[in-house]
Amino acid sequence: MKTVARALVTLLYVLVLGSQSSLLSQDVHPRISYKIRVDAKDLSGFDVEMRIQSAGDIMRIAMASHPEYDDRYWRYVENLTAESRGAPLQFTNEETAVWRIVSPGGDVTVKYRIHLPAQTTPARAAWKPFLSATGGLVGDLHSFMYVVGATAVPTRVTLDLPSGWASASGLDPTNDPKAFAASSVELLLDSPIAVGQFRSWDFKVKGVPHTIVYWPQPNAPLFDTVAFVAGVQRLVNEAIRICGPPPYRRYTFLYQDGAYGALEHLNSVNIGATSQNLAQGLTDVFGTTAHEYFHTWNLMHVRPVERVGLRYRPADPTGELWWSEGVTIYFSDLMLRRAQLPNYDPTRVAHLERYIAAYLLTPGYSRNSAERISRASDDPLGLGDDSASTHLQGNLLGTMLDLMVRDATHCQRSLDDVMRTLSGRFTPQRGITGRDIEQAVHEVCACDIHTFFEAHVRGARPLDFDRYLRIIGMRTQVSWSPAVSSDEKPQPDVRLSAFNTVDDPVLRIHLSTPDSVWGRAGLHTGDQLVSLNGQPVTSSADFRSRLGQLRIGDTAPVEIIRNGVASQVSVAIAGYDRPTVRIVAIANATPEQLRLRAQWLTAAP
Ligand SMILES: [Zn+2]
Repeated sequence: MKTVARALVTLLYVLVLGSQSSLLSQDVHPRISYKIRVDAKDLSGFDVEMRIQSAGDIMRIAMASHPEYDDRYWRYVENLTAESRGAPLQFTNEETAVWRIVSPGGDVTVKYRIHLPAQTTPARAAWKPFLSATGGLVGDLHSFMYVVGATAVPTRVTLDLPSGWASASGLDPTNDPKAFAASSVELLLDSPIAVGQFRSWDFKVKGVPHTIVYWPQPNAPLFDTVAFVAGVQRLVNEAIRICGPPPYRRYTFLYQDGAYGALEHLNSVNIGATSQNLAQGLTDVFGTTAHEYFHTWNLMHVRPVERVGLRYRPADPTGELWWSEGVTIYFSDLMLRRAQLPNYDPTRVAHLERYIAAYLLTPGYSRNSAERISRASDDPLGLGDDSASTHLQGNLLGTMLDLMVRDATHCQRSLDDVMRTLSGRFTPQRGITGRDIEQAVHEVCACDIHTFFEAHVRGARPLDFDRYLRIIGMRTQVSWSPAVSSDEKPQPDVRLSAFNTVDDPVLRIHLSTPDSVWGRAGLHTGDQLVSLNGQPVTSSADFRSRLGQLRIGDTAPVEIIRNGVASQVSVAIAGYDRPTVRIVAIANATPEQLRLRAQWLTAAP
């Protein structure tokens, strides 16, 4: 009886607390505003102020984690204080990124400083905040905390910047030239803000304003800004032709000198583009822009369910990156061709040949489902001794799906229609699952798509490329030959790398394939890497450069630790075979195959 009574009390407790916490998150609509202050005399960081009104007596504030790059900027929060009407408040650090504040009345001002970490690489990651004498990047989830349970309320941010500095972001301007408005806290936390002295260009597409910002380093070489701006505008036109009306009120491209990488957002994008590269040509920047800008739809507005909402803990893995990332590669290649901009692969055939060859080289693609490879994309141990890129696999799956849709609809429809269907149906608050993607393809083609999804998306059956290329009267010709360098010298098999993570700093082996000389010698992904050729390995870059010194015929002793036991494995370095793929026309193609081929080759929608 006593046990039952206690259980009943516990149940009541859970019910009462549960209903209280849901009331908290549903019924409280606090007013929240932010300030950022940059002081030219101290660019080691910037000050943030967060004013919260009517939030309830107990609130939790948190630094959000990004599902793709969790940079954990809660580590750089300094001098955190909370006060209410001039009186200091107590707060507790509940979790690394979460603080609990008790404030009768719910009016709180939180102040803190983000101390910018020292740059440890020669180039800067384009999505991280920085400050320099002539400008930088602030804002988004690297700067702003949020009130847990109150991320849908509108907000604004006011900037206090050094004199002569401008600012730009995807947020809405206000009557105050120093302030931006955001329709939600969640949008503010997805909006980086470029500050300083930069160049900018404006254009409209379908009446929607777009801005391009380029922040140059001092003494940057000049580049062809007319061709640059015209090219970006053409990419915007092509993406809107594929996806439908822009899902934003305004959009800002934030390019910066001295940085690498890029990150998509709902209303903007960060892109690293060094002025030296831009002066040499625009192929790189157009390729990156096409991919990242297409993510505005495919990944930001049409996003996997696991990516819905703000969170302060790392996001759960998702099985849909083959679509969000890989199919984005498929479409960005099409956008570049339709916009007649420079592209690495001169033709669609050359592009597909390159991707199929990479697929065939690595057996991981033929042994793991697309959903499994997607879920393992952030986990170097996720596929065991296999490795595979969800980007590469998704591009090929998208290409085959497009061929099936064209076949079933006699080229009346294509994968463009599938993307437009998803864009019209889903929002950042209503994420997609694999079944939703299958349903959209099925609606567009009215054909049996279920078998394909069972075999290749949820199942691990290898793709039979010829089966789909036959739709356009083509097929592959695959030949295998020893891998050689550009000057025709046989290349040693160095198909492995070393990695460590923030949570596990131990250097470990990552095989590209268990069929390499390293895998066949008995090494496994996850083995702790101690030494190569008797010399300790100090970093993944050190390992890479030492692998580069190996020659065919060498014997490489590798010292490892597995399950706490040290051992040495001797690896006989040999060459390896690599596939070359040619896509050729089949004999006796029907008029329908020839018609579909002509449309496919010209990247027709
Ligand atoms: Zn991407």
